[in-house]
Amino acid sequence: MSYFTQLLEGGYEAVHLLSDSKTGLRAIVGMHNTRLGPGLGGTRALSTYTSEEEAVADALRLARGMTYKAALAGLPHGGGKAVIMLPRGNFDRAKLFESFGRAVESLGGRYITTEDSGTSPDDMEHVRKHTKYVVGLKERSGDPSPVTAYGVARAMEATAKHLFGRPDLKGLRVTVLGVGHVGMYLVKELHQRGAKVWVSDINAASVEHAVKQYGATAVSADELHNMEADIYAPCALGGAINDTTLPMLRVKAVCGAANNQLLTMRHGEQLAKNGILYVPDYAANAGGLINVAQEWAGYDREKAYARAALIFDTIDQVLTRAKESGLRPEQVADRMVEEKLSA
Ligand code: NAD
Repeated sequence: MSYFTQLLEGGYEAVHLLSDSKTGLRAIVGMHNTRLGPGLGGTRALSTYTSEEEAVADALRLARGMTYKAALAGLPHGGGKAVIMLPRGNFDRAKLFESFGRAVESLGGRYITTEDSGTSPDDMEHVRKHTKYVVGLKERSGDPSPVTAYGVARAMEATAKHLFGRPDLKGLRVTVLGVGHVGMYLVKELHQRGAKVWVSDINAASVEHAVKQYGATAVSADELHNMEADIYAPCALGGAINDTTLPMLRVKAVCGAANNQLLTMRHGEQLAKNGILYVPDYAANAGGLINVAQEWAGYDREKAYARAALIFDTIDQVLTRAKESGLRPEQVADRMVEEKLSA
C-alpha cells in the first residue's frame, strides 16, 4: 500500500523520515491525530526491521495507539511515536541518539519523545542535549512503572465494582503473568489491598522476590492460565490472549499492564463469549503515559498519581456503557475516544 493511502485510510497526519549520514540515523516519526495536543509517545529502536515499509507501518500503528491512550486518559496530547532502524554492526550509540534529538527538535514540538522498547533513560539523556521535546528523564519523572501499576490496580478496583458490587480487591484471587517492572509494583499494590496473588515469570529471581516480599504464590505459566481466579493480569508481552491461552482461562476478568493483550480482535469476541470481562489494555495501563505527560506539564508526583487514580472512573464508565449497549468494553473505549476526537 502506498504511504499516502496508508495515511489517508488510517486518519494519519504525517510520517516523518529523519536521517543523518554522519551517525547513520534512520528514524521514522508517525503522527496520528494531534487535535487534543502535541503527539507524545516513546521511541522504539530495533535492528531487526527487515524493511523500511515494516518500520513505517510499526511507527504508524504505534502512533495511532498513542492517540487512543492519551485521549481516553483525558490528556492534552495526541498520537506520535518514533521508530529508529538501528544500524547493523558497530555504531556510536550516543552520537546516534544525539542526532535523533536534533531531528526531534526540527519537528518544532509537534512530537515529544520518551523511552520505549529498545531505548533507555541513558539514550534520552543524549536526546535531551539537542531538544527540549523529551520526557521520562532520570532526574525528573523517572521510572513510570509504579504509576502504571497503581493505575492498573485502580482499573481492577473498578472491575471488582462491576463484578461484585464493591470496588475492593480484598480477598480477590488475582493471577499476574510477568513480574518485571510493572508486574512487581502491581503485586505490591495487590498485596497492600489484601488480594491473594499468584505469579509466573520466566525469571526465577523475580518470582522469588514476589513470593518473599509480597507473599505471592509461585506457579508455572500453564498452572496460572488454568487457575480459577477472579482477575488475570497479563504484565509480560503482547498477545497474551491467544488461541493457546484463551481456552484455558477460568477467570472472571482480564485486566493487566501489557500492551496489545488481545492477539486479534477475534480474541476479544471470544473472551466475551466465554463470559470473561476484558478491560481494555490501553485504558488500564495509561499510568505511565500520565506520568510523562505530567513531566511535560511540570512534574509533580502527587498530581501524576491523582490523575492515574482517575483510571478507576474511566474503566467504570467503559464497563457501564458496555453493559448498557451490549458492546464489548474495547469497542466502547474506542468509541469514547472517537467521540472526544470529533467533538
Ligand atoms: P519488563 O520487561 O520489566 O517486564 C516483563 C516481565 O515479563 C519480565 O519479568 C519478563 O521476564 C517476563 N516475561 C517475558 N516473557 C514471559 C513469558 N513468556 N512468561 C512469563 N513471563 C515473561 O517490562 P515492563 O516495563 O514491566 O512492561 C510489561 C508490559 O507492560 C509490557 O507489555 C509493556 O509494554 C507494558 N507497559 C509498561 C509500562 C511501564 O510503565 N513500564 C506502561 C504501559 C505498558
